[in-house]
Amino acid sequence: MHTIFQLLSKRYTRENTSSSPLGPDVSHVASKHIVVAGAGIAGLSFALSLHKLWPASFSSQLPRITIIERDSKADRLGREGYTLSIRVDGNRGGGVQVLDDLGLYEVVRDVAVIVDSGIGVDTDCINLSDGKQKAGNMVLWDKNWRPLLKVDPEKMQNESKRKLSGMRIRRNALQEVLANATAALPDVTMMWERRVVNVKNGATGAGDSMVVVLDDGSNISCDIIIAADGSKSKIRTALRPSDGLNYSGVVAISGNARFESRDQIPKPLANDWGALLGWTGVGIFVAPVDPTAALWSLSYRAGQPRDIPRKPFSNATISSLLEEARGLGIHAGPKFRTLVDNTDPSTLMVFNAFDRPPFRHDFEKHGNVIWIGDANHAVTPFAGNGANMAMMDSWDLVKELVKGEHGGFEKSVRAWERSMMPRTEAVLKESHRNMDVGHAVGWKAWFYWSILKVLALFT
Ligand SMILES: Cc1cc2nc3c(=O)[nH]c(=O)nc-3n(C[C@H](O)[C@H](O)[C@H](O)COP(=O)(O)OP(=O)(O)OC[C@H]3O[C@@H](n4cnc5c(N)ncnc54)[C@H](O)[C@@H]3O)c2cc1C
Repeated sequence: MHTIFQLLSKRYTRENTSSSPLGPDVSHVASKHIVVAGAGIAGLSFALSLHKLWPASFSSQLPRITIIERDSKADRLGREGYTLSIRVDGNRGGGVQVLDDLGLYEVVRDVAVIVDSGIGVDTDCINLSDGKQKAGNMVLWDKNWRPLLKVDPEKMQNESKRKLSGMRIRRNALQEVLANATAALPDVTMMWERRVVNVKNGATGAGDSMVVVLDDGSNISCDIIIAADGSKSKIRTALRPSDGLNYSGVVAISGNARFESRDQIPKPLANDWGALLGWTGVGIFVAPVDPTAALWSLSYRAGQPRDIPRKPFSNATISSLLEEARGLGIHAGPKFRTLVDNTDPSTLMVFNAFDRPPFRHDFEKHGNVIWIGDANHAVTPFAGNGANMAMMDSWDLVKELVKGEHGGFEKSVRAWERSMMPRTEAVLKESHRNMDVGHAVGWKAWFYWSILKVLALFT
């Protein structure tokens, strides 16, 4: 849905990063110790971007990076999770271009579930029996699963450098690629199963020394902290307690349906992904997860956030959530019911959708802390863009830090904020519009239905 409404959105472009000049002055970051809190998509992309963009002539002054991650490696990379859209978004740019800049595009594409074009795709999931490969389509369906709108993946490609395709990928598969590439970098230390509980500005006047406090009471001194610890950022809560998350007014239940063979996945859900617009106030989203599984997600508006049961769910909770999904999704007919009936209970999730707008940094107050990804600007899954923003944050921030033309650390971060803030504000706005469309009833439903009909003429 995001892809469609992007057609209506204000365009904002991503600079062509490959040719950006690297200035000679990187002294404000050279030889510094940077602690990255969180080995998620933002944190790992930051370390990879720094290595990729660091000027060769300053290789002896490459900053030292320590990444601290709360979860164990097995938990973070092994947990199945959900699938993500990693996007190209034309000239505006997306995570795909960052992966390409990092030299990881092909590696990631090889483990993707769906690639938005047939080129060079060898993912089992989309190989047809005649040996040809078919792209997955982003579709908006009506309640009878008839396409209201189908997006031609070719139109969403970026051809400025080379042909790149958007994809859907399991969150943990993307993270594994990023973690493996990060582990191979020199001067990067990974600390798994260690939690950041606080940070302190230990500025002495002689230098900008920061202190990271870990859950075992130990401290790590560093020059710069990259807070990439996700939407519920502990570092944001500690230093900016009034910058919390906002409840978006939507609750979602989701799960992965598993089948013995791909043929059992209700058609066309083994290939295509997107939203069913039933105009009943209940949003339904579906997407393949692997050759024998498909994700379903059902959402509805609620005035207050819902109490979320603790994981692992009891059998009674599982039965009642599935029954609730069957009832709320009844308008989507037997296809949706088949997905719900075949849900792997361990993948069942219920969550309140929260977000928050991006913020500018206050170095005077907080010292050298930079919040990136969801820690700065969480967006709900209805944006389909949080991971893309996390990767773009990292690449663009490093680009500004190593450019050396801004005359110092703070000015480099300000330059990054000037591109990061409008980009994420626009995505936040899009996600609210997506929620509005997905849960529309009455005259609003008619209004959006008419717009989609018009858009369908042009796609
Ligand atoms: C159901 C769902 C569907 C989504 N679909 C899409 C999509 O289609 N496309 C898209 O682009 N995005 C999507 N997103 C959003 C995307 O997953 C997030 O925006 C993205 O993961 C943000 O990356 P991050 O690195 O900023 O945060 P995270 O991925 O949350 O990473 C934060 C890391 O910090 C660690 N951490 C947390 N606290 C601490 C601490 N105190 N100390 C140390 N480590 C800590 C965490 O364990 C984690 O590894 C979706 C999200 C959900 C929930």
